[in-house]
Amino acid sequence: MKISKKDALSWFEFFAQLPAGEQLLVKQQEIVYATFAQIEAVVIKRKEELMEQIPGLKTLKDRTLFVGPDEKFPDGCRSCLLGSGLTAIRKTNKCNLQCRFCYNYGELDAIEPVGEGIWVIGGTKFYENDIDLLLEIHKKPTGVAYVYLEPFMEIEKYYNIIQKFNKAGIYQHLYTNGTLATETTLKALGEAGLNELRFNLGASGCADKVIENIGIAKKYIKKVGIETPMTNEFFEKFFLKKQAVLDTGLDFINCAELHLNPKNVYCPPWIYITNLQSRTDTQIYGSRSKREMEFGCT
Ligand code: SF4
Repeated sequence: MKISKKDALSWFEFFAQLPAGEQLLVKQQEIVYATFAQIEAVVIKRKEELMEQIPGLKTLKDRTLFVGPDEKFPDGCRSCLLGSGLTAIRKTNKCNLQCRFCYNYGELDAIEPVGEGIWVIGGTKFYENDIDLLLEIHKKPTGVAYVYLEPFMEIEKYYNIIQKFNKAGIYQHLYTNGTLATETTLKALGEAGLNELRFNLGASGCADKVIENIGIAKKYIKKVGIETPMTNEFFEKFFLKKQAVLDTGLDFINCAELHLNPKNVYCPPWIYITNLQSRTDTQIYGSRSKREMEFGCT
């Protein structure tokens, strides 16, 4: 079904006036889906046009887009996209910041603890003491990622488990906002066997201290990069400090999706929400203005 813009607008104005909770008729639902499909087609076309303007744009077997040398592409992403899966590991239930794009915005002080001596690995709770056995008897993933809130709130708890996964030959990456990292803790992570560290530079508004920590991390950890949702605020601050960031010698910058949910969704006009069968149900794709799209998207 094709519908003109004028007709679509009239119908949507009519739908907006319906009493809350009133269901649309089947015919009306067809109009809604036809309109969404046309919007989607336009967005995809615009995205393709923007991609054509990015010199040297490559794909990783059509799983994601990137520019730059292949060897700089983060192995943690390779593991997730092409390997035998990536297992998420959770421990810390606190953060020292309050980013409005955070999955847990508005409830950062009320996240349930994982439990003393316990880690959540791939959605299941394990005692730290049982991890050696787990690694011995289970099929190992190619990689694991330490996700969830801010690990440097209690980073000393991570060294031992990182050593265990390192001994098992599993590639490991960890996310941080970077504000609490120090030379001592970054060195300890590198010595424990962490392969890759990713800084959410947008969380601190591109703080100088975090940029400095990226450079320090490069001394001790083989792959160091940035992974930050592409917000307007980050875009502006990043370009003011771009040279300092590049001077750290970092390996990659992942321009991450916005992961939106009822806690952090705030719908300024530049967000177009669509259902993507992507990594999670809550993942919604923010189709951004031209300049942000030029920056790329994982
Ligand atoms: S730094 Fe990360 S965990 Fe902390 S509030 Fe920001 S997005 Fe959430």
